[in-house]
Amino acid sequence: KNVEAKKDEYVIASDTAFAPFEFQNDENEYIGIDVDLMKRAAELQDFNITFNHIGFSGAVQAVEGNQADGMIAGMSITDEREESFDFSDSYFESGIQLAVQEGNDDDISSYEDLDGKTVGAKVGTESADFLDEHEDEYGYNVKLYDDADQLYEAVSVDAINALMDDYPVIGYSVAQGQALETPIERESGGEYGFAVKKGQNPELLEMFNEGLKEMQRTGEYDQIISDYIDDSG
Ligand code: GLN
Repeated sequence: KNVEAKKDEYVIASDTAFAPFEFQNDENEYIGIDVDLMKRAAELQDFNITFNHIGFSGAVQAVEGNQADGMIAGMSITDEREESFDFSDSYFESGIQLAVQEGNDDDISSYEDLDGKTVGAKVGTESADFLDEHEDEYGYNVKLYDDADQLYEAVSVDAINALMDDYPVIGYSVAQGQALETPIERESGGEYGFAVKKGQNPELLEMFNEGLKEMQRTGEYDQIISDYIDDSG
């Protein structure tokens, strides 16, 4: 072990509903890939954590405002975020995608078809940035939601025509029975990293990286992923 914890306990901020990365089980406990990876890294590297599930943009603000020591929330490593955060090694390769209610995709097969329609995303996310960037080009309206429950509900009751989110999260909700279709190829990129505020808690970042490497070496990493994502189809 190369680094020692410098705090008795590190506060880790996270999202509220971002299955399969963090979500509540039937006992209202938070589980998921991020939760398991973080907890196991803490065990392996001998540091204490307490999770604070406050939503994605809430987590970003908590780390920026020193109310949390780090965040793990399916957070994509982007150039812009690297100006205010230090990221761990990437632990998952993701990407964003458009989804529509099943049966409603007949007239949507490209971004151009979104002209005059309303597309939702979660506030502060890569998907929200993508939608903002292309709003004029494709002529849709953007509607932002604080959490995924509201966003997915909105598309299922036709309050919005489509949503944009990370593809494994859409995939998980489809696997859970939500009637969604993804008529447009996903946008590639979006490596997830654990993040600390720039220049702060370097030992925490290093301990996460060391723990992650060990989990990858022992196969525990693959086991955690396959606990939540069925790769067979
Ligand atoms: N990966 C996306 C981002 O970093 C979404 C993360 C999330 O919603 N928890 O913006």
